[in-house]
Amino acid sequence: MTKRGEQMRAEILAVLQNAHGAMSAYDVLHRLQMAHPKIAPPTVYNALASLTKAGRVHRVESLKAYIACRCDGTHQAAVLSICDECGTVEERTAPQLVENLSGLIGETGFQPQRHVIEVHGICSSCSSET
Ligand SMILES: [Zn+2]
Ligand SMILES: [Zn+2]
Repeated sequence: MTKRGEQMRAEILAVLQNAHGAMSAYDVLHRLQMAHPKIAPPTVYNALASLTKAGRVHRVESLKAYIACRCDGTHQAAVLSICDECGTVEERTAPQLVENLSGLIGETGFQPQRHVIEVHGICSSCSSET
């Protein structure tokens, strides 16, 4: 990894950590372009992909967006709860749940490789604001 690449990944991580909710790759690009007008989209998309692979960032599949990992980044699958009102995404880890799912799916000989566990609803602060 080049020094430039490291720098880019650190900046992307900071953007996502400060974001209110999940951000699309385009949102991240747009934010970075404010500081680096000449930044090329593939640079940002590649850095996002490598952060995702490293577990520092999670892709929220149902939103086609990204969040920074709030855990240690070494866990298996993230269980994401997504507020449809304010867009907040909360992350939990549930190794037992992932194991149970793998067992269930594996009964037919299917080999699970990547789990996507996303739950949509209303977060506690939105539901108390009525
Ligand atoms: Zn995580
Ligand atoms: Zn909410």
